[in-house]
Amino acid sequence: MSFAELGLHPLVLKCLETTGYTTPTEVQRQAVPAALDGHDLLVSSHTGSGKTAAFLLPSLHRLAQPSALPGNGPRVLVLCPTRELALQVQKQAMIYGAGLRKLRTVCLVGGAPFGPQFQALRHHPEVMIATPGRLIDHLERGRIDFSRLEVLVLDEADRMLDMGFIEDIEHIVARLPQSRQTLLFSATLDGMVGRIAAEMTRDARRIEVASHAAHKANIDQRLLFTDDVGHKHKLLDVLLRDVGLSQAVVFTATKKSAEELSETLREQGFAAAALHGDMPQHKRNRTLQRLRDGQTRVLVATDVAARGIDVAGISHVINFDAPRQAEDYVHRIGRTGRAGRAGIAVTFVHGRERGLIRDIERYTGQAVRVDVIPGLEPMARADRPFAKPRFGKGKPWQDKPRGAPLRDHTAQRRDDGRPGENRSGWQDERRWGPASNALARQPDGRPARDHAPARHDTRPRGRQSW
Ligand code: AMP
Repeated sequence: MSFAELGLHPLVLKCLETTGYTTPTEVQRQAVPAALDGHDLLVSSHTGSGKTAAFLLPSLHRLAQPSALPGNGPRVLVLCPTRELALQVQKQAMIYGAGLRKLRTVCLVGGAPFGPQFQALRHHPEVMIATPGRLIDHLERGRIDFSRLEVLVLDEADRMLDMGFIEDIEHIVARLPQSRQTLLFSATLDGMVGRIAAEMTRDARRIEVASHAAHKANIDQRLLFTDDVGHKHKLLDVLLRDVGLSQAVVFTATKKSAEELSETLREQGFAAAALHGDMPQHKRNRTLQRLRDGQTRVLVATDVAARGIDVAGISHVINFDAPRQAEDYVHRIGRTGRAGRAGIAVTFVHGRERGLIRDIERYTGQAVRVDVIPGLEPMARADRPFAKPRFGKGKPWQDKPRGAPLRDHTAQRRDDGRPGENRSGWQDERRWGPASNALARQPDGRPARDHAPARHDTRPRGRQSW
């Protein structure tokens, strides 16, 4: 199927030619015609699926015709969970809408100065992209007239709810005309998302594009068991020095650890930078630009800040701290394998965090392969339960970074002494067998190895490219 067959306006089709996209993605094939027919939509789709174009193209198609209503307020409103995602959406709107006469967009996001936003509002933008909090700030100043709004998009609705935006969203939606079309995009349509969807849409068509697994088929997902923070640093060093790595996003659990890790990496000579929510917007923009330009090779980021990053050169995602939820994992690894390329996602996991890996595998429907870096094998074997008594007081998991709480149930589930399952291959014994004599046992059953500082410098390279 071609884009022309979707029924889009010729001006929009013309702009699409400049993007180099040849065929619509699955979510675009399903969502665009339904949206053009005027239906409300509930779409379960994931980052990397082409979902942004799936809602922007039919919205811009509308804008190719003049509004039937008087006024000069926005005609399309896109609500996004984060500033980065909002900026990304605006960028795409400008690309797909470049052929529309005088299309104006505005991005109203927190952390950015109000002045330029007031200025942009004075030009009566047709497309408004906003994070809920900042939009409410503007609404309270009485600066926005939604009387001719035609389309509301809730992008990554699940994420907005996770971030506690429910009241803000309800407050905003109450100000919008009933006649609008509502397009809701979310990783999941269950639970709370289903509830707001029922409240905010009418006779919505439900579109569920292929499973998470299909979208991540181009991402090689690997898991490295780790003993402690020192071990993580050594593993990271090996990964970052791999010749196959062009650019990487390294995820940490907290803003502070993102800052600290990026500083450490810079000291080690890596072109690293941090990205987190405490940074002023102009600094975040500059950091992202340097990433796009290739000046930054390693971005150390937190979950929220990294949403929406779309840089084709990112070959690797490294979860220095394992994500707290399966949804976060999907979003994180979606930073690589962009624009049809292959990517590698490596997650550092302590044995105690295995429950989380099971959640991720259940959520994505894909096994995450256990791997080892020769010479840097973990002291504790992955196929053994990490019951505390086995290790006495040593507790190698004790130095889990502060501020990286695991969900209780995931943290505890595998501490019950049950033997590991081989359900999905994440305890792949074959990867461990010949690794090295590092797995020789001490009398107490622990492997007889330590992480001598120089050890990884003389290590053999892994069998495959990292
Ligand atoms: P998204 O899921 O909206 O974050 O989009 C993921 C990536 O796919 C972005 O880099 C888009 O520019 C790209 N993209 C969107 N639609 C298409 C398409 N039909 N063909 C190829 N790439 C696309």
